[in-house]
Amino acid sequence: MNRKFEDKTALVTGGNSGIGKAIALAFASEGCNVVIAARRSDEGEQTAREIIKHGGNAQFVKTDVTSRHDIQAMVDTCISEFGQLDYAINNAGIFGPAKVATADYDEDTWDRVMNTNLKGMWLCMKQEIPIMLQQGSGVIINMSSVAGLIASLATSAYCVSKHGIIGLTKVAAKEYAAQGIRVNAICPAIIETPMSDEVVKPDNELTSQLKLRYPVGRFGTPEEVAGAALFLCSDEASFITGQALPVDGGRLLV
Ligand code: NDP
Repeated sequence: MNRKFEDKTALVTGGNSGIGKAIALAFASEGCNVVIAARRSDEGEQTAREIIKHGGNAQFVKTDVTSRHDIQAMVDTCISEFGQLDYAINNAGIFGPAKVATADYDEDTWDRVMNTNLKGMWLCMKQEIPIMLQQGSGVIINMSSVAGLIASLATSAYCVSKHGIIGLTKVAAKEYAAQGIRVNAICPAIIETPMSDEVVKPDNELTSQLKLRYPVGRFGTPEEVAGAALFLCSDEASFITGQALPVDGGRLLV
């Protein structure tokens, strides 16, 4: 069987849950070695075991993306285990409070959301890019959101962090394009994961109202976001860089 990413290596932050886990499994199913980085070890080890059980190669490395020391260890693991870093999927993120207006937002929470979602992503790129420069190739995918493209009410730090991710993606794409590195962002609308479960409960009024804003009539699945990540990392996307791709069931059309 001809698999797309045989002998390549992908790093997935937040690869132990939700969208990141689906991405880790999807890359592994295409023959890719996968390094899974997140804070919760049980879930991370379990995802790695799932991949290995199906004949793949995976390694979990306990990582907090707000710590540059952890990130150094994460990137070092890619090289020591697999000798290269072809695809970096910077996906780790937190939502923060769901219904707090801008003026009421707490400063410590603001810092926590920004440090994880935006600064954490930059810290990851800061260590991933030099390896890709050495290799002369690499693809980076940064997980933004439709909240990075439009206003999302009462989630100011989250919305700002996701807008910032798109800016960071465009700058890095322009800086490193000539050196063989592509950088794109994915902007999912609501995807059914532990993160969205906290906000969108089945069978409640808010959930029904939100679904009306989706022309396809439903929220997305983690596997649908993983499909976009596979495409953007593939050679079929070799001329695509600096883009923010909505994966949104038509949400932005409404
Ligand atoms: P999950 O809560 O399932 O996943 C979030 C992941 O991020 C977890 O694996 C978590 O692992 C990891 N993470 C959080 N903080 C840190 C940290 N400091 N260091 C390392 N890892 C961390 O939610 P999703 O899968 O839904 O979210 C994944 C990404 O997709 C996020 O960036 C989110 O903003 C984005 N997104 C999600 C949407 C949705 O509707 N679900 C819509 C649009 C974007 P751990 O806690 O073990 O560290």
